[in-house]
Amino acid sequence: MIIDVVRQTALKKYSGSFSFEYDCPAGLVILPSADIVGKVKVSGEFEIYDDDSVGVRLRLSYLLRGVCSYCLEPAEQRVEYEDDVLYLTEDDGENYSYNGLKIDLTTAVNDAVLFSQPQILLCSPDCKGIDIK
Ligand SMILES: [Zn+2]
Repeated sequence: MIIDVVRQTALKKYSGSFSFEYDCPAGLVILPSADIVGKVKVSGEFEIYDDDSVGVRLRLSYLLRGVCSYCLEPAEQRVEYEDDVLYLTEDDGENYSYNGLKIDLTTAVNDAVLFSQPQILLCSPDCKGIDIK
């Protein structure tokens, strides 16, 4: 999950792509009694700009499994998420920052896992909830 900016710049490769699988820490799953099944697939592209800032497009895909928020039956949902982030060599309080040498994507990926999670998990889109008679 490292982009070696110095090396890329030395090779004059100012853009590129990446793809890896990530074992997400269990604490990042917000929904109660839900888990990410297997690994989070992460892919994307990066571009190194003249001022050493680096734009990164992140794409995430993972399977969330747990219980339906309405009826408590087993439920799972494939989550696909895409986001553009920017790394600056100085912290501006808004974007990610890095030391000008290497970018560690872990924080951005963890944030993307948090942002991408649905508020509720449903067994089916038209679940009516527990049927009380
Ligand atoms: Zn349900």
